[in-house]
Formats: sequence, C-alpha cells, structure tokens
Amino acid sequence: MDIDLILFFVVLLVIIIVILVFAMNYKSFGSKYNRSYVTEISIKEIKAYYFKKQYCKECNQRLVRAKEKEFIVEGWDSINGTHFYGKKYRVIIFLKCPICMKKYKLEDL
Ligand SMILES: [Zn+2]
Repeated sequence: MDIDLILFFVVLLVIIIVILVFAMNYKSFGSKYNRSYVTEISIKEIKAYYFKKQYCKECNQRLVRAKEKEFIVEGWDSINGTHFYGKKYRVIIFLKCPICMKKYKLEDL
C-alpha cells in the first residue's frame, strides 16, 4: 500500500473517532443533566484561542483561556434523535488576563 493512502485512512479513522466521541458526549448531556450547549466559533477564532499567544494590552500578561455559560431557553430539544426537556445554554469562550481580570473576546483579537 502507498504511504499516502495509509495516512489518508489514519486521518479518516481519527475523524470518525472524534465524531463518535462528540455524539456520545451530547447524548449524555441530554439524558443525564437535561442541559444542552451550543457554541459558535469560527476557524479564525479557534486559531486565536488555541494557537496564538495573546497578551493583555494593559499589563502585558499572557492571557488564559476561559469559558462562560449563558442561559438561553428552557424547553424541548432534540439532539441526535433524542428528545428531552431541559435548559439550553450558550457557551462563550474568551481569553482573560489573570492579573487585571480583563476579558478579551475572540472576535476582538
Ligand atoms: Zn491585564
């Protein structure tokens, strides 16, 4: 077998595993806690969040990653065909300065 082909199958397998893990997590959110989470993030924001070193504009301190939950609505929802009644949250991710506690939105970076 060609090395490129092997690499392709390995990548494919990893993608499938990631999707399965996500699907299982979402299902357990639905049945155990009756809470669901949505988040909106662009590729550019993922890069800013995970790969770039960001510094506070005021104290020049390295920013740390942080998350916040925001309640959206309570009601019926459906994830992967599982219907449940529960609370829906939006997850907001941002960067925070550990010194002055200033928050930086990803879209502003
Ligand atoms: Zn700061």
